[in-house]
Amino acid sequence: MVDSPPTDLVSLWRIALGEIELSVSKANFTTWFKNVSLARREHGLVIMVAPNIFTREWLENKYHTVILAALQRIDPTIQNIRCEISAQPAVEARVVQHATVVVSKRRVDFAAPLEYPPGPTPLAIGRGMAEPAATPETALGKEDRPEERGTSGTWDKISNLNARYTFETFVVGANNELAYAAAQAVARRPGSAYNPLFIYGGVGLGKTHLLQAVGNAIRRDQIVLRVRYVTSEKFMHELITAIQNKLQYAFKDRYRAVDVLIIDDVQFLTGKEKTQDELFHTFNDLHGSGRQVVFSSDRPPKAIATLEERLRSRFEGGMVADIGLPDLETRIAILKAKCAAREPRFVVPDDVLAYMATEVTSNIRELEGCLNRVLVHCELRDDQPTLARVREIIGGLLAQPKRRVIHADRILEVVSSYYHIPVADLVGESRRKEVVGPRQVAMYLLRSENGFSFPTIGQCFGGRDHTTAMHACGKIGDALETNEMLQQDLVTIRQKLYVVVGV
Ligand code: ADP
Ligand code: MG
Repeated sequence: MVDSPPTDLVSLWRIALGEIELSVSKANFTTWFKNVSLARREHGLVIMVAPNIFTREWLENKYHTVILAALQRIDPTIQNIRCEISAQPAVEARVVQHATVVVSKRRVDFAAPLEYPPGPTPLAIGRGMAEPAATPETALGKEDRPEERGTSGTWDKISNLNARYTFETFVVGANNELAYAAAQAVARRPGSAYNPLFIYGGVGLGKTHLLQAVGNAIRRDQIVLRVRYVTSEKFMHELITAIQNKLQYAFKDRYRAVDVLIIDDVQFLTGKEKTQDELFHTFNDLHGSGRQVVFSSDRPPKAIATLEERLRSRFEGGMVADIGLPDLETRIAILKAKCAAREPRFVVPDDVLAYMATEVTSNIRELEGCLNRVLVHCELRDDQPTLARVREIIGGLLAQPKRRVIHADRILEVVSSYYHIPVADLVGESRRKEVVGPRQVAMYLLRSENGFSFPTIGQCFGGRDHTTAMHACGKIGDALETNEMLQQDLVTIRQKLYVVVGV
């Protein structure tokens, strides 16, 4: 508490924000508090202003207590808070106007081969002018499927969306409610709710599902809007092919003609300067004209190495929302939803679902894989998925990763490539902060994944003393309790360790 409470609202809010920042995650803080201010005070009542209804609802439902407590710590005479919406041009009007502009624009068909000059204006397509692309469909088109393999659902080749990914089939839990709510807001008011929306989280936690749900909802409810979903790798390959075929302008033109651009897994743009550059300009063009852009990544923008600063700041310029690990209840609920969506229906007893959800904790794709495996087994043998049967089917499979010892060199390599620190530096003498952190993470992993003793860990790091290893493991263990960024790092690193080893 400060000695005498500040009388002006700006200072009061600034100090309160300092407190609030300590008790909410970075993503939440940036998202919900960035554009909020205090409007006035009516005795014990403080009135805040939020930029839109959505933010107001979140502040009221989720942060009422945190905000009030922070304000009361500064000024105990404050008794309550209320949130109003700031006067802004009507959002709906903007959307309607935007939609009108859209229909009047030229149609761009991602399913058709690229051609140059761009667009179907009859005069411009003079046959002789267009050098036929070597393989037109490879530029943008035929094989342009979303990343999932062998899954059911219909795929739309123009938007590149798979109809199976919807909000209706997405289970909301504490781990993803922020990302879900933001995605829904964007789907309801593309271009004006949050722009861009950046969703990040570990592998298999539902990023693609949410991104595609945004696209599918917009396509269903606002059919005049053109939606394009693409992975960053696909975007890059399309760009390369377009450049090779001298169709770069046609490529630019197509991407700049969409109303909602969804780019999945932007972490793959690491080091791809040309693609980053193209994306940056595409983004500016779309964003500048009020069109919606949605990104996903396996880590927050700050943690994407060798990302151009200007692109990073674009990513961070709207709403950044994370998806964390689902808790047990959410994992069970997801399994139930997957069972319900399946034809023919299978009744899987609760104890079986709970067993699977307890065994597979960090990746929903794996959890789904487990369920599918069980159901296929049972279907084939016309058997019931009892607990005993399911233990038999997946038990062995699940036990393996835990017993497997990963080669120490591999842990060093994965940590080295994740943090972009050479292995020689990790095991070397450097005391630089950028090296010490990753080194401690590598030590921690040798212990947590392989159960190495502290002296052995010390040996792996150029014969360091066992107390250094002890200190590192303790430090990372403690930091993991509160540091979300580090938690995320560890999820991603572990996934890289296991996925590539093929476990
Ligand atoms: P990511 O893109 O984060 O790697 P995906 O979106 O591909 O993950 O999700 C992996 C699988 O898990 C998909 O089949 C998806 O439908 C499912 N899934 C993930 N989260 C949820 C959820 N909250 N509710 C329902 N299914 C989910
Ligand atoms: Mg994905």
